[in-house]
Amino acid sequence: MNSENDLKHFNALIEAYPTATAIYSDRNITIAAANQEMLALWGKNNSVIGKEMAAAIPELINQPFINLLQQVYDTGITYHGEQEAADLIVDGQLKTSYFNFTYKALKDEHGKTVAIIHNAIDVTELVLTKKKISETEERLSFALESAEIGTWEMNPLNETVFWDQRCREIFGFDGHEEIEYKSVLHCIHPLDKQKVAMAVAAAIDPNRTETYDLRYRTVSQSNKTLRWVHCKGKAYFDDRGAVYRFAGIAMDITKEITANLSEQQLLSLIRHNADHMSIADMEGRLIYMNQSGRKMLGVPENADITTMTASDFYTPEELARVQQTLIPQISEESGWQGVIHLRNYQNKQEIPCDVNYILIKDPFSGATIGRGATARDLRPEIKAKAELKRLATIVDISEDFCNYCDLDGNTIYINEAGGKLIGIDPKHINGANLYQYHSAASSAEIRDRIIPELYTHGKWSGRLELVHQVTGEIIPIHKQLFIIRQEFSNEPVAIAGIARDMRRELNAKKAVDKKTEELQQAIKEMEFLANTVPAVVWTSHPDGMLDYINDRWHERSDVSIAESLGQGWIKVMHPDDVKGVIQRWKLSVDSGNPYQTEFRMLDKHGNYRWWLVRALALKDANDKIIKWYGTNTDITDQKELERQKDNFLAVASHELKTPVTSIKAYAQVLEMMLNRAGDTKNAVLMSKMDGQINRLTSLIGDLLDVTKINSGRLEFDNVPFDFNQMMLEIIEDMQLTSGRHQIKHQLSFKRMVTGDRERIAQVVINLITNAIKYSPNADRIIIYTEDHDTEVQLCVQDFGIGLTRDKMDRVFEQFYRVSGTKEHTFPGLGLGLYISSEIIKQLGGKIWVNSVIEKGSTFCFAIPLNNGN
Ligand code: ADP
Repeated sequence: MNSENDLKHFNALIEAYPTATAIYSDRNITIAAANQEMLALWGKNNSVIGKEMAAAIPELINQPFINLLQQVYDTGITYHGEQEAADLIVDGQLKTSYFNFTYKALKDEHGKTVAIIHNAIDVTELVLTKKKISETEERLSFALESAEIGTWEMNPLNETVFWDQRCREIFGFDGHEEIEYKSVLHCIHPLDKQKVAMAVAAAIDPNRTETYDLRYRTVSQSNKTLRWVHCKGKAYFDDRGAVYRFAGIAMDITKEITANLSEQQLLSLIRHNADHMSIADMEGRLIYMNQSGRKMLGVPENADITTMTASDFYTPEELARVQQTLIPQISEESGWQGVIHLRNYQNKQEIPCDVNYILIKDPFSGATIGRGATARDLRPEIKAKAELKRLATIVDISEDFCNYCDLDGNTIYINEAGGKLIGIDPKHINGANLYQYHSAASSAEIRDRIIPELYTHGKWSGRLELVHQVTGEIIPIHKQLFIIRQEFSNEPVAIAGIARDMRRELNAKKAVDKKTEELQQAIKEMEFLANTVPAVVWTSHPDGMLDYINDRWHERSDVSIAESLGQGWIKVMHPDDVKGVIQRWKLSVDSGNPYQTEFRMLDKHGNYRWWLVRALALKDANDKIIKWYGTNTDITDQKELERQKDNFLAVASHELKTPVTSIKAYAQVLEMMLNRAGDTKNAVLMSKMDGQINRLTSLIGDLLDVTKINSGRLEFDNVPFDFNQMMLEIIEDMQLTSGRHQIKHQLSFKRMVTGDRERIAQVVINLITNAIKYSPNADRIIIYTEDHDTEVQLCVQDFGIGLTRDKMDRVFEQFYRVSGTKEHTFPGLGLGLYISSEIIKQLGGKIWVNSVIEKGSTFCFAIPLNNGN
């Protein structure tokens, strides 16, 4: 660097340097060279060249640079400065600039520093921008921090979330590590989880890019704290539309929500309060009225309350009182309370109310800005009081004993009837103790047993005794006791009692007991009586269950009485009879008709005996069966006699038949011979004899039929025949036998009948014979037949002696003949109708008679057209 030329080159080199460069040539930092950039940085011109730095740039004297340069000169170690501030006077002004620079020692071949080369880049702009950025960031984070807002950022590619500390708090995460999106979902309240997932999906979906703005609940994983969070976010998409970032903020809005909630609750409380609540400004203009208020005062739900004034809800007089007297009395602390008559806006009805006024103050200025009123409708209370009064009156005038005592038994109240029952004046009850007017035994019971029970169960009822305070009479009562408790504390305060005088009831019961005893005695006597009669006597419930049988039964049958009750009696019955007997008994039980039947029953010796059973139902005024009364009569002997009689008849009629047939033949031969001999006189006698033989034959025929019927041997043909044809033949024959009667007929039935023509004809002939026989003074009989679809009905009407009601029922019995004076004038065995009715019965038909005594009878039968089925 010695030569002038070298220096020139050197300077040109430095000048050519793209960055600011200077060369210092000694330890005093003499500026050997500096390019334009460096001079510009210093804010100096060429005049500094050749000067020591301290002299050339005096503002650097108290800054570290000169020292630093000297250190580099001494040590030879390069120094790098990064963004270091230097205060330099540029354009006459001290200005702080920032530089990145290097002080590098230039050394000779011995390693000794001969100069320092200084490169510098002005980074002021960069530093200031950085500073600005960091200040803005600081401000932002300060703002976020003070607003308690957290920030988050989600990387949708790897589903991780970066969260600042605040966010971590809000969501309840402890550490600092990255959080996976799915663990974020764990922190969200189960009810909100889906909502959040959907909103996130919508926000990061390139086709939707919806703004993410959501309020939801989080539940801290560590301590389960529930928070309300307001999250806002935005997703960023690259040029190809793929999401690469999703970031936003989160705020804890729990306080706001809960504050809102409590405000809402308060408002709802006011709105739904049962009492009227309203707010008015100082001029009396209404600002608010709750639902009950509107309802009570008849304000339509949608009416604008602010258009109304107090005068809408008071009578003019009451309004004057409120405005002039009451409002000035409203105290700042305690308001005003009292009864005011409000008025319904619509129906103008006055409503007595317990009203509370308070003054409403501006919370900030403390000035009174309005009045609040709560009002309770007193009408239910007034009504309840009236109700109570009425109730009290009822108790007062009740015919039952009513009293009310304190817990020590001192009577506070007793009603008129109560006083009368125990002989004291209710007005002078003077706390008379209840133990005083109960008998000693009852008092002990009340003290030891009833009061403790009242305390536990609240009530007691049962029998006690009062003592009449004047006569000393012991009065049995049925008492109900109740404990009365304080409304709120539920502490027992009194005992109330109601009692009924039991004397009349007990006397009535005594009378009933006596009657029952007498009745029992009567029953016993009845049973005794029943046991003395020879027949079996029994009774049964309306449903047919036996409830009593006398001792005779046990003596005759093989079962005990106890076993026979109910349906037990069936056990000893002959198996062949059971079905029929039960059927008939059931028929009677159902209809209430008399019951009669015969059956065989095992006796003590193992033999079956025949019994005739008859029972009648005892009925009440409404024809309802109360009880059945029955008797069983042993008819075994009778049955045996009947059997012998039937046997005899069978044998006798059979034995008679042969000789009578012979006699008839002889008589007919004789008659013929006498006629031939011209002995007409004797021939007539013979003919009469033949007539009597005919009668005898007919009687024997009847007897034979009866024996057949009784032994069940009556047999029937079953062939179709022309019923009308049969009728015409019978009528013709019968007409020949009766000269006196004309047999008229109306034969409407014209069809075929299947059955036994002979037997049916026998019945018809029997009815016509009887009609002629029992109407000796009449001159006609009439025969009708009718077609009844499935039946043919035949009736024979006569105008003869007729039958009484009771006889009508019995003419179809075996050997029955109407007794009386006329009996002998009409011969017969009393078998014709019996045989007829048996024939009709066996054909599945029915036979009956209608008759009026002295006027005539009509005998009818009806049989099914097809008897074979
Ligand atoms: P009988 O005629 O042989 O006495 P029935 O059995 O035919 O026997 O009649 C029984 C009783 O019924 C008769 O004794 C009579 O008293 C009464 N009776 C029958 N038919 C008539 C009638 N048409 N009018 C009045 N009584 C009659």
